[in-house]
Amino acid sequence: MLNIALFGPPGSGKGTQSKFIIDKYSLTYISTGDILREHISRQTTLGLQAKQLIDQGHLVPDELVVKLIEEKLNNAAKTNGFLFDGFPRTCSQAKILEQILAARRLNLNAMVSLEVPQAELVQRLLDRAKVQGRSDDTKEVIEARFKEYASKTMPVIDFYKALNKYHPVNGVGTLDEVFVRIQQVLDAFEK
Ligand code: ADP
Repeated sequence: MLNIALFGPPGSGKGTQSKFIIDKYSLTYISTGDILREHISRQTTLGLQAKQLIDQGHLVPDELVVKLIEEKLNNAAKTNGFLFDGFPRTCSQAKILEQILAARRLNLNAMVSLEVPQAELVQRLLDRAKVQGRSDDTKEVIEARFKEYASKTMPVIDFYKALNKYHPVNGVGTLDEVFVRIQQVLDAFEK
């Protein structure tokens, strides 16, 4: 099994690189952002709760995303491993992920962190807004998301450093260049 968390600030290319990774390594994709947006479009109770927070650039509560992750893990078909995109996003989520994996006799092999300078990130998000029209890709909301990232999500790096699971990857370059760098990290785990 190969279990990976893909980490990085908004706009760092997690969604795009995730697709390459799950294809090459045959992993099951679990994106908390996608799951939340799906709840929003189905207008579930959870979706309505999450939408208000997401549209303000805030994180949704840990208990809520952890429940979603457990649901996905419980219902997953047999797989080569899991790729978590956008999770964990707080130290508390990271600690709980270690526990819920251990309870299933699984282990997170690596946290791959896509590193991109902030000025480039803002530009990418504003460009994406023109194409995809995501309601949280406006200038004000992007700023709020970066604030949440700096205060709540950045500390997750130290959590994984302490476990020797932190693998920084330069996220600047073409999609292929970045994917080659990610493969250099992941191939080391394949036996
Ligand atoms: P991005 O990485 O571009 O910010 P995502 O699609 O991963 O986009 O997430 C969109 C929004 O969904 C986040 O800004 C946040 O409000 C919410 N969200 C996603 N994952 C989590 C999580 N693990 N914990 C809390 N909130 C989350």
